[in-house]
Amino acid sequence: MPEDVKFYRPATMMLDVTERCPNECGHCGYECGPYGKSLGKPVITELMKDAGEEGIQLLAISGGDPFCSRNVYHAVREAKSNGIKTYSIMTSGFFGKTKSSARRVLKRLKEAGYSTEKVEVRKAFGKTNKVGAHFQLSIDDFHKEFVSYESVFNVIDAYCDTFGSTEGLAIDFSYLKNKSEGMGKMLTKIPVRENERGRYFFQFSRGEIELIFSPMVYAGRARKIDKSEFKTWPVRKVLKDCRKKMPSCIGSISDHNIITIRGDGSAYPCCSLFYKEIPRLKLGNVNEESLHEIIERANGDPLLNFMMVKNTALIFNKVGKTMLERYEGYLDRGITHDCEICKDVLTDETVLAELEGKAVKRLPKVKKWQKEIYPDIYPTA
Ligand code: SF4
Ligand code: SF4
Repeated sequence: MPEDVKFYRPATMMLDVTERCPNECGHCGYECGPYGKSLGKPVITELMKDAGEEGIQLLAISGGDPFCSRNVYHAVREAKSNGIKTYSIMTSGFFGKTKSSARRVLKRLKEAGYSTEKVEVRKAFGKTNKVGAHFQLSIDDFHKEFVSYESVFNVIDAYCDTFGSTEGLAIDFSYLKNKSEGMGKMLTKIPVRENERGRYFFQFSRGEIELIFSPMVYAGRARKIDKSEFKTWPVRKVLKDCRKKMPSCIGSISDHNIITIRGDGSAYPCCSLFYKEIPRLKLGNVNEESLHEIIERANGDPLLNFMMVKNTALIFNKVGKTMLERYEGYLDRGITHDCEICKDVLTDETVLAELEGKAVKRLPKVKKWQKEIYPDIYPTA
């Protein structure tokens, strides 16, 4: 068995083709607006070629709003020609001002190779999974200020015309403290069905569309909103819940490792709303070096290797005493997401230094676990 087998093998790429968005929602975690950088065509071409060679299987496109850049179609086309399925696109639907503008965009997307067809992808522990596609539209009180319901309905209609049904279509709804309060205004416009498992479905004349509810995260522009408006959990509870989950943090190895490429070319091993605030997570920039070089360097980084097999709670265990000594009342603080703990750990020089030291010591053990997680690349004799 080769000793230099790579553990960090991202299977999914989150690609922000552009940081630009025509909207400036008050809760935007990435603080997007009609400014910011976009990835150029030649960079996307090279990136998708390298991604195919690296074994990346899935592409999720986001932004900004991906439809602010014509290169969104180029990314889908190049991904397909390198054997990568575009399985997710997230948009506000701003292009749906008229039925024909919505149809034009979706027609181009289909022509570029976007499809709802399911493909089989490899997962950790030697498992495989069938993955379809999600065309995700965001609707909530913040988006509504910029994109009317009518525009969103036009996009839904155009999607059905283009792809034949509502399959693969989802609506993402962010809410502050109280889900039903946030939903209240929307429910007056849209009939919603709740199923026995607590999942919600928007009843549209051409079929059902799942509504995905996400509590709003206190990040980026959302920090201008009073924190008491957010749904929060004490750090103590978040850590307890994390312990029950699958072990990994970065890129969730229980599913697929991921790599995120932002519109300015910077690469990160996760798609957290906080990564921009955690310089330690930056892997490199695809405008300056190849994806191969970036992935190779990440593989040689003991801390990243450690984080790929340990989740937030277990990482906190390793540096918890130092954290508690430095931050009074830490366990009782209210947070909106477990990544906030990761941010605290990785941006405090003292705590980070302690963690880096532990990661170096644990590296031989981490390498041993990695063989169990990816038996397909670490076959047993
Ligand atoms: S939340 Fe979405 S639609 Fe709103 S500004 Fe941010 S990227 Fe644009
Ligand atoms: S816990 Fe840290 S590494 Fe994991 S997703 Fe959140 S910010 Fe990224």
